[in-house]
Amino acid sequence: MTEVAPTDRKQPAIVTDGEHSVDAIAFRKALIIWGKENFRAFPWRFTSDPYRILMAEVMLHRTQALQVVPVYERFLERYPDLPALATATEEDLHGMLYSLGLKWRVKLIYEMVAALMQRFDGKLPSDRADLLSLPGVSDYIASAVCCFAWKQPQALIDTNTVRIVARVFNLKITDSLRRNRRFKALLETLADSIQPATYNYALLDLANKVCLKVREPDCPKCPLLEHCHYGANKLRVAPKISTNSFPVFETVSECKA
Ligand code: SF4
Repeated sequence: MTEVAPTDRKQPAIVTDGEHSVDAIAFRKALIIWGKENFRAFPWRFTSDPYRILMAEVMLHRTQALQVVPVYERFLERYPDLPALATATEEDLHGMLYSLGLKWRVKLIYEMVAALMQRFDGKLPSDRADLLSLPGVSDYIASAVCCFAWKQPQALIDTNTVRIVARVFNLKITDSLRRNRRFKALLETLADSIQPATYNYALLDLANKVCLKVREPDCPKCPLLEHCHYGANKLRVAPKISTNSFPVFETVSECKA
């Protein structure tokens, strides 16, 4: 049996949205146990070097992870750190990254490295706002670097994590900003502050292996089944409703307006 460190007791125990409530501590624990047993061993998951994590996240943007692996490994062999990358020309970068497509990525990496050398003395900042000020660094990339490199409990918000939360809480996915804020608030509240990277890897792996986008989710194999509205309805099992043993610490009410 995998051992699981206790999840953070300072976080709200119950996360409520609309009609559905989730015991956040049990949710995180179930996800982390499953995540450790179903971990996808990509090379960027075995480092805490912020430079390597940043480069992985830039390459992974809209690209399949398996396609990124050989490019990432070749890239780091040639440019093992920021000072090495700062010697590359745009043509060099294009040569390394052309197989991933998206020419804009090359230009943004080039500009990002120049900004890091000029404004941050060749070191990656650990502050999210500083990361976001860099060319090519999106909200998702900044959160991923803060989480995987600096172990900050950041929420990763993309179509995969939103899909899981939408199914768990029985929410419709739309493009509206208000909806986005609602998913953001839920994902931020559910994030684990003791094992943030393990928790987020597990969430991403669950979206890839079980809570699928293109096919029906494989709910019987899901560690979140007992917390999930969609899974409970699909399999006609009663979702585990939070009991009085935990007070309702937080209602994500600001998102309902
Ligand atoms: S129970 Fe089913 S729908 Fe719910 S999170 Fe798991 S796989 Fe997704």
